Amino acid sequence: MTNSARLPVAVIGAGFGGLAAAIRLQASGVPTLVLEKRDRPGGRAYVFEDEGFTFDAGPTVITAPECIEELFQLAQRPMADYLEFVQLDPMYRLSWEDGYTLDYTADLERMNAQIAAHSPADVDGYRRFLEYSEAVFQEGYVKLAAVPFLDMWSMVRAGPQLARLQSWRSVYSIVAKYIKDPQLRQAFSYHTLLVGGNPFTSSSIYALIHALERRWGVLFPRGGTGALVQALARLYRDLGGDLRVDCPVDRIDTNSGRVSGVCLESGERIPVSGIVSNADVVHTYEKLLRDESLLDRKRRSLARKRYSMSLFVVYFGLRRQHPQLAHHTVLFGPRYKELLDDIFERGVLADDFSLYLHAPSVTDPNLAPPGCSAYYVLAPVPNFANGQIDWSTEAPRFRDRILEYVEKRCIPGLREDLVTSRMFTPQDFVTELNAHQGSAFSLQPTLTQSAYFRVHNRDARIGGLYFVGAGTHPGAGVPGVVNSAKATAGLVLQDQGAA
Ligand SMILES: Cc1cc2nc3c(=O)[nH]c(=O)nc-3n(C[C@H](O)[C@H](O)[C@H](O)COP(=O)(O)OP(=O)(O)OC[C@H]3O[C@@H](n4cnc5c(N)ncnc54)[C@H](O)[C@@H]3O)c2cc1C
Repeated sequence: MTNSARLPVAVIGAGFGGLAAAIRLQASGVPTLVLEKRDRPGGRAYVFEDEGFTFDAGPTVITAPECIEELFQLAQRPMADYLEFVQLDPMYRLSWEDGYTLDYTADLERMNAQIAAHSPADVDGYRRFLEYSEAVFQEGYVKLAAVPFLDMWSMVRAGPQLARLQSWRSVYSIVAKYIKDPQLRQAFSYHTLLVGGNPFTSSSIYALIHALERRWGVLFPRGGTGALVQALARLYRDLGGDLRVDCPVDRIDTNSGRVSGVCLESGERIPVSGIVSNADVVHTYEKLLRDESLLDRKRRSLARKRYSMSLFVVYFGLRRQHPQLAHHTVLFGPRYKELLDDIFERGVLADDFSLYLHAPSVTDPNLAPPGCSAYYVLAPVPNFANGQIDWSTEAPRFRDRILEYVEKRCIPGLREDLVTSRMFTPQDFVTELNAHQGSAFSLQPTLTQSAYFRVHNRDARIGGLYFVGAGTHPGAGVPGVVNSAKATAGLVLQDQGAA
């Protein structure tokens, strides 16, 4: 171990990726320091409280608990002392304007019965789609999710499997190969939106999400996603980790091509032995790093990449409960491909929308005052590369249209029962999270931006600089960023001689 290795490794950002990386390093004996800009940890999984309601701001569909459990095993602490997971069934309720509803469940018999009732010809196609999804899950998740793709050879080695699974095709085209009914095609392809991708351009590798959800289910951490963040923050501190909030990093210092310290906006300078950036990858290369001689090529390459859509989210509390709702509902609108084109290609705010509705009070009434219920509803919208929407004027109008639509579709009396509401717009992704172009999920998950073609977990030119989180391999979503932490922490440990 070198002398500098006695200094801490600074983790910039306390999103799930940053927390998971810090836990792994701390548990392996590397002293770490997490520096978070906002006033609490969680990143996109921030928690708001308004008028007695608790709102999870971001991820709510929690899957792949094994990667979270692994953190507790590594720390030699029982997960049950920190956290309780509840299985949700159905995993999602999918609903269309013509009244068709599909309860998307891991129970194969119920799933087949629903498909048979709606489109008998697709029962066999669904079986074959499941086989496909299981095969990509084995290759793309089990074997490769936590492997750092640092050189072209790693990509070449994975090539034959990726070719066999036709990963150059889009998720939608693979689904359409097996399933004929247009609504079922939507039901089995929309998942890429959960990791920031257009189903019509995201690599078919992401069809693995279907098998992953079936294997472990969709879980709810009792108390909400915030309880999961708290559990990881507590685990990290129990390991002796130092987590500082209200600590925006202003600059990463380098010396002879190697990171040497971080400068906080407060002016404090902290010498470090390494840096793991969980902050947005473009923010890190454009704003935090200042050694111009090392950066030109990287910045040009990042400028050419395509970033995910943004999201418009309305959090709201009602003075009534609605036990008829499912915990997770997708409300499909009248258009699918055309709406996605508006969002990802044309950059316009359409008159119609497809929405995701989160209704956690049906599982955990403690998230709202007695007799009341907490929600959020989100709409995918263009990022700032695709559209220059002025959210300061557009947001209130868009919110009103969305709430009216949700009232009509599934929550009668919504606007009359409103106790509190607040919005999070693409502009907030920029201001609050330093997200490039207001993108909600960093780089889009296309084939040419996956694995080796994503931002590497270790920078090739700047010694001691690592990345974790949505912009790196394997990508966005809670399982993605927690797995990226495994890849990244492995590299830090190797480099510091602690592996
Ligand atoms: C509304 C929404 C809903 C979602 N739903 C789901 C879902 O249901 N299931 C799922 O799996 N995924 C979901 N996702 C995606 C998932 O939340 C993200 O991919 C994941 O949480 C990102 O984690 P991360 O580790 O990349 O860090 P982030 O959560 O992006 O955190 C990065 C942190 O870095 C901090 N930071 C930035 N700059 C600095 C700086 N200069 N100094 C210090 N700190 C800094 C930020 O404040 C932030 O806390 C959703 C995302 C959103 C936005």
